[in-house]
Amino acid sequence: MNSAVELARDGDIAVLTVDSPPVNALSAQVREGIAEGIRRAEADPAVKAVVLHCAGRTFFAGADISEFGKPPKHPNLPEVIDIIEAASKPVIAALHGTALGGGLETALACHYRVAVPSAKCGFPEVKLGLLPGAGGTQRLPRLVGPEQALEMVASGNPISAKAAKDMGIVDEIVDENALLAGAVAFARKVIAESRPLKKVRDLDDKVAAARGKPEIFDAFRKANARKFRGFQAPEYNILCIEAAVNLPFDEGIRLERELFQELVSGEQSAAQRHVFFAERQVWKIPDISEDTPTLPIKKVGVIGAGTMGGGISMNFANAGIPVTIVEAKPEALERGLSVIRRNYETTAKKGRMSAEDVERRMGLLTGSLKLEDLADCDLIIEAVFENMAIKKEVFTKLDAIAKPGAILASNTSYLNVNEIASVTKRPESVLGMHFFSPANVMRLLEVVRGEKTDKKVVATAMQLGRKIGKVAVLVGVCHGFVGNRMLEQRQREANRLIMEGAMPWDVDRVLYDFGLPMGPFAMADLAGLDIGWSRETSKGETIREILCEQDRRGQKTGAGFYDYDENRNAKPSKLVEQIILDLSAKKGVTRRAISDQEILERCIYPMINEGTKILEEGIAIRSSDIDIVWINGYGWPVYRGGPMFYGEQVGLGHVLERLREYEKQFGAEFKPSALLERLVAEGKGFRDL
Ligand code: NAD
Repeated sequence: MNSAVELARDGDIAVLTVDSPPVNALSAQVREGIAEGIRRAEADPAVKAVVLHCAGRTFFAGADISEFGKPPKHPNLPEVIDIIEAASKPVIAALHGTALGGGLETALACHYRVAVPSAKCGFPEVKLGLLPGAGGTQRLPRLVGPEQALEMVASGNPISAKAAKDMGIVDEIVDENALLAGAVAFARKVIAESRPLKKVRDLDDKVAAARGKPEIFDAFRKANARKFRGFQAPEYNILCIEAAVNLPFDEGIRLERELFQELVSGEQSAAQRHVFFAERQVWKIPDISEDTPTLPIKKVGVIGAGTMGGGISMNFANAGIPVTIVEAKPEALERGLSVIRRNYETTAKKGRMSAEDVERRMGLLTGSLKLEDLADCDLIIEAVFENMAIKKEVFTKLDAIAKPGAILASNTSYLNVNEIASVTKRPESVLGMHFFSPANVMRLLEVVRGEKTDKKVVATAMQLGRKIGKVAVLVGVCHGFVGNRMLEQRQREANRLIMEGAMPWDVDRVLYDFGLPMGPFAMADLAGLDIGWSRETSKGETIREILCEQDRRGQKTGAGFYDYDENRNAKPSKLVEQIILDLSAKKGVTRRAISDQEILERCIYPMINEGTKILEEGIAIRSSDIDIVWINGYGWPVYRGGPMFYGEQVGLGHVLERLREYEKQFGAEFKPSALLERLVAEGKGFRDL
């Protein structure tokens, strides 16, 4: 055979073993070996059945994604799958680990399937903007019916062996520690009982029941409309399942191929694959290796139980780490803890957590009014007001209280972490841990490395991020770090656009349609317009100031840029429109019609430009880290790959040209960075850096 596939005999059963570490991906060599193995087993008169299984930690975990975008090598997966299904002797797949994507498709082409209890199977293709393209969408519904097939292919989530058995994907569960023996025994049973060659392609009863019932698919689309918004792949997966129900097998396969080809060569899948790899890159830090010893974090302190402190504390309680939360005033502490409890109880009410879990997690949180109570914490995260003087005061005190070696982190959004560190005698233990709101939900954690932060401290924060379910991205010190620094660019342009001629709902609509969860003005209303605003200092010079002065402070007051009804549904406001018209008239602006294209470019291109400055300054390690920040911290649509990826997709040359044009019209804020100029001049992209 070849070095990845071995054919052996156990009496009258041929055992085809694939051993291609780490995950037995279905590479060209593996495919060749399987095809050859089946051929030989067929030709050997002594063989009555074939068991197909994998060595190592898993059954085929999927296609070999490194082959995507390269010329196809024969036999391709559909060809191998046809060879298996057409075999004249029963082929039994023996599943362990994760039978995913092409792995599950291969299993479905076998005539029977056995699995160990810990095995999982699923079709994650949709998460990479794809669909199972080797018959998966046509075989699965024939085996389990369209409803369950829809759920599996369009969600991409794996299921357990038990669920697979209940659904009919797996024929028998075998002993966890004796998969091969169990599979061989099952094969003997198939022969002894002269069971038929069960070809999934020929099954019909499950799909026949749904034939001519488009309402099944419409209901599924409707139930998932929010989750699927903007994504192409879920709809294509649905179309394939629909085809499995309504068309003969071979026609369904043709459609599946066609739609797969369209997806795999399309922009969305390219973006989603980029994100997949980008997320696995964030840990690659040039001067800190992934196995750098980290400090044990057994107890955490959080200072401030406001919006952020509460959410941050929940992350640790969720991971089973006790937290002491220190507040300045008893009322604030009380309020903070009750918000946390309410959050947990809401989750419990939705059935996603048990009542005991709520108590267990609350039991890990201790409120206090004394910083001294943080003396035994291994990590202390400060989340008090965004004010340098206050933060310095807190860190000066902390320095005196915290045990030697304890990590002192700030959740500051914009402030200089080096300056905060400078008031301590242990700047090597200080860094930023910038969570995003709501901190118990958003996956992003910017780990801000100070000038003097010790490598061990950085590594600990990065690893801890992973432990609490975050995507940690390492960034350097600058105003607003990566995410907020770029956000400011968009914010400035959004505000200028409404003074020049657009309305807030125009700007929001364009960005929402682009795929963001909401536009800047809806977001401002949600966060509250009065963050950092006070009546005493308000001069009525900006729209925001005027709105705050009129007590339109966002959703919480029932009005902001929009009017809100009792269900918090937003409606464009006539009053706000007038305020905007009046203020622009007062400033002598002749308003003009602004195209959606201009809105999009002026909001997004300066962000990309700022991203290149961030790279130039070494604030982010690589452009894909910036993409990960935006996807996980601000809801940038995954199918657009992040702002930097998007910039390359529309073309850096085009972005540069538009920036130059806007620079002429609107000024220096649009001045392209030196890096962008250089990349375009040299015909290079971010991956050449
Ligand atoms: P907040 O006003 O909701 O909460 C701050 C809390 O700190 C208040 O409850 C206050 O009583 C308490 N506090 C103030 N001084 C204190 C002291 N000396 N000792 C103990 N407690 C003290 O503010 P927030 O939105 O939670 O922001 C906190 C920090 O997080 C800020 O640095 C902010 O920039 C940053 N941040 C905020 C967001 C966001 O979206 N709100 C996102 C990321 C980061």
